[in-house]
Amino acid sequence: LKRKFQPPKRVENSQRGGKSSVGSCPVPKRSGGGVQIARPTSSSSRADNGANVDDQEELPEELQHLDKELVKKIQNEIMESGDKITFDDIAGLDEAKQTVQEVVCWPMKRPDLFTGLRRAPNGLLLYGPPGTGKTLIGKAIAHESGATFFSISSSSLTSKWIGEGEKLVRTLFAVAAFRQPAVVFIDEIDSLLTQRKASENEASRRIKTEFLVQLDGTGTTGQGRVLVIGATNRPQELDEAARRRFTKRLYIPLPAEMDRSILLQVMLKTNNHILSIEEVQKLARETDGFSGADLKALCTDAAMGPIRQLGDRALTIDVKDVPAISYKHFRKSLKGTKPSVAPSDLIQYEEWDKVYGTNR
Ligand code: ADP
Repeated sequence: LKRKFQPPKRVENSQRGGKSSVGSCPVPKRSGGGVQIARPTSSSSRADNGANVDDQEELPEELQHLDKELVKKIQNEIMESGDKITFDDIAGLDEAKQTVQEVVCWPMKRPDLFTGLRRAPNGLLLYGPPGTGKTLIGKAIAHESGATFFSISSSSLTSKWIGEGEKLVRTLFAVAAFRQPAVVFIDEIDSLLTQRKASENEASRRIKTEFLVQLDGTGTTGQGRVLVIGATNRPQELDEAARRRFTKRLYIPLPAEMDRSILLQVMLKTNNHILSIEEVQKLARETDGFSGADLKALCTDAAMGPIRQLGDRALTIDVKDVPAISYKHFRKSLKGTKPSVAPSDLIQYEEWDKVYGTNR
């Protein structure tokens, strides 16, 4: 017996405890983005579009012309419902946060206000060193504008989804249009939209063409509200056609000393530690060139310090007797940790930003 399509329940993330503003913004009575698809009906609203879709469920009418297996895969593997990241969860990056609020979040919430000259960009490019919060920003945009978040990396388009890449791109945008407002986050966008090389195979060329077609048909105003966010550590690999489509291009740099101090304080909150504020500030000075992800790795290693110190006793000790994490543990961990981004790479990002960045 076939059951009627029941949108799966959204899974709350107990660790983050973020606001659940999803579903709170107005929804215009309009059909989809790049692919013309009607809005979900009340039985399949985007407010509860969370987790897995099982085999028995029928697709909503608007999606029935699509490959059912592929739609299910997209809903189960690419559509995310877990982390509710807010802008408050992202340390530093104040300018970037302010800009995306204005140019992306508000138009997603009020498409009727952002028309004409105020029209929002169809594509947002976030570029900079790895581990600086680009994915977090994508998630926060989706969460704070009440949008469904779809996340895929370019490498998985050409490897995991081998043979189905082109169809997957088309189906993904169709599902996103149906679930709008939606954010489609494409990590490593450079490898999808890289400058054409003679060695490029037919399959990747077709995926790229399909993606550009879909990108041209999306937008947060006009046809629908599907925002494409591309993230890259190698912006210089994008060709002119790709750059032109990402009309907003934001540099997400390494955290400055002040931001590192905030990041360290946020990360330390989750465990018992005895670092004074002066010691945290000292650590922030000592971690020049570290990305957010590098700092997280440093904190994770330092947090193991008290356990290492206990040796075998760690297996029997009472939790309350475990020594607190101290500056000494961080010093030890720092000896074995290096920033993952080379200074020469930073110069390249800054130069690309000067030429192609649209920070305002
Ligand atoms: P990328 O820029 O490569 O997309 P991510 O957004 O995936 O980086 O960040 C990797 C991890 O590093 C995050 O899960 C988080 O733990 C940490 N991190 C990086 N930047 C920040 C930041 N600005 N605020 C909070 N955490 C951060």
